[in-house]
Amino acid sequence: MRSTKIILCILSISGAGALAQRISSPPPAQGKRIVLAASTVLDGNGHVLHDTRIVVEGSKIVAMEAKSGPLDYDLRGLTVLPGWIDAHAHITWRFGKDGKNAGMEGTMQEDAYEAASNAWVTLMAGFTTVQSVGAPNDIPLRDAIAKGILPGPRILTAVEPLVGRGEQTGTPDEIRSFIRKQKKAGADLIKIFASESIRLGGGMTLSEEQLNAACDEAKKQGLRTLVHAYKAAVRAATLAGCTEIEHGTLATDDDLKLMAEKGAYLDPQAGLVIENYLRNKEKFVGTPGYTEEGFAAMEKILPMNHDLVQRAVKVPGLKIVFGTDALAGSHGRNAEEFIDRVRDGGQDPMQAMMSANSIGAAAMGLAGQLGSIAPGFEADIIALDGDPLKDITAVRRVVFVMKGGVVYKNVSRGPIPAYAGVHP
Ligand SMILES: [Zn+2]
Repeated sequence: MRSTKIILCILSISGAGALAQRISSPPPAQGKRIVLAASTVLDGNGHVLHDTRIVVEGSKIVAMEAKSGPLDYDLRGLTVLPGWIDAHAHITWRFGKDGKNAGMEGTMQEDAYEAASNAWVTLMAGFTTVQSVGAPNDIPLRDAIAKGILPGPRILTAVEPLVGRGEQTGTPDEIRSFIRKQKKAGADLIKIFASESIRLGGGMTLSEEQLNAACDEAKKQGLRTLVHAYKAAVRAATLAGCTEIEHGTLATDDDLKLMAEKGAYLDPQAGLVIENYLRNKEKFVGTPGYTEEGFAAMEKILPMNHDLVQRAVKVPGLKIVFGTDALAGSHGRNAEEFIDRVRDGGQDPMQAMMSANSIGAAAMGLAGQLGSIAPGFEADIIALDGDPLKDITAVRRVVFVMKGGVVYKNVSRGPIPAYAGVHP
C-alpha cells in the first residue's frame, strides 16, 4: 500500500493567528517529469503569463520555462489556471432514493456511492479543493481521496458543525469542549451557525459570549472558524475574531468595512445555491428545513445576495473568497457561481478567479501551497476552452484537470461530456 504524503506547514493568517493546516496528495509516479505548454496562464494572483511551459515533478510545479524539450500536454489556445477552490460545499449531500433531499443523513452503500459521485463531478468541473462544512461522513471520503483510491477534490472538513440554539447550545465551557471534540474527530476547521436560516429571518442564535468562546477555542486548537451569519451576526462574528463569514446577507457597509479592518474573509453566494433550490423545489419542500414559506422567501433573498456582492466588491481591502454552498443538485455545477458573481454581483472576472485561487488558498491557511501556478506549488492545474476574462461562461468549459500532478481529465475542445446527469 502506498503511503500518503503529509505536508505540514504553519502559516499566519491575518486576523486568525498562526494556524496549522494539512494537505495531502496521493503520490504520482516518482520523479516523473511532465511538461505542459500554455499560451495563456492566469497565475492565480492576478497576473497573465504568455507562452510558457509549466514543468511538474511528482505532485508539484517545479519550474516555469520559456522553452524546453518534448511536451506531454499541449494546452496552447486554452486558458490555463490553478485548480479552483470552493470554500463552502456539502460534498456528501444529495437527493436520496426517494428523490427527496437527504442532506447529510445516510451511511448506506448507496449514500457512499452518491458521495463519491459528487466528488468526481466536482473534480471534473475544475475544483481541485473543496471545504466541506460539514458532516461526519466527510471523513472517510476525504481520506479515501487523499490516499488516491478515489478520484475527487482535496477535501477539508468541519465534521460536525456547532449549531447555535440560544441557551440550549451550552455554556461557553461546553462550547469549548464541543470544539475540541471536532478537532479530535479530525476536523480541519470549525463551522458555526450563528444565525437562523435567512428563510426564517436570519436572527442570531448564539450570544456574543458563546460566539467568543467558540472562535477563541478554535484558535487555541489551531483551527479556523467559518461562521454562518446574516445581519447582526456578521458584526458579532467579526468582533469575536472568527476567520470567515459565510453568506453575510443583509450585512451593512459598515459591517463589511469592519471585516476588512479585522482581516475577516467574506464568502458570499451570488446565485447558484438559491437558483438550485428554486430549480429543484419539489425535491426540497417537505424535507427538514424546507417549507413552502421558505421557498417564497428565497425569491426575495436572491436580489439581496446580488446586492451584497455588489457592495462587497467595492469595499477596499475586503478579502472575498469563492464558496458555492454546493449541495444536492448543484455538485459539479459549482462554476455557475462565477457567472452569477460577475453578471449579477458586478465582480471583476479576474477578481472572481483569484477568489477561488490565491485568496481562497490564503483563507484556508494554504497560501504558498495551493492557488497559484508557480514553482513550489501543488500541481493543481486546469484549462478552459475560452477566456473567462472576456466571457465568464468559459468557466463551464473545463477541458483539462490535473490535481497534485495527476491528470484526471483531458478532453478535446467542443461539447464537454456530461457526468452523472450534470449539465450546467
Ligand atoms: Zn452551507
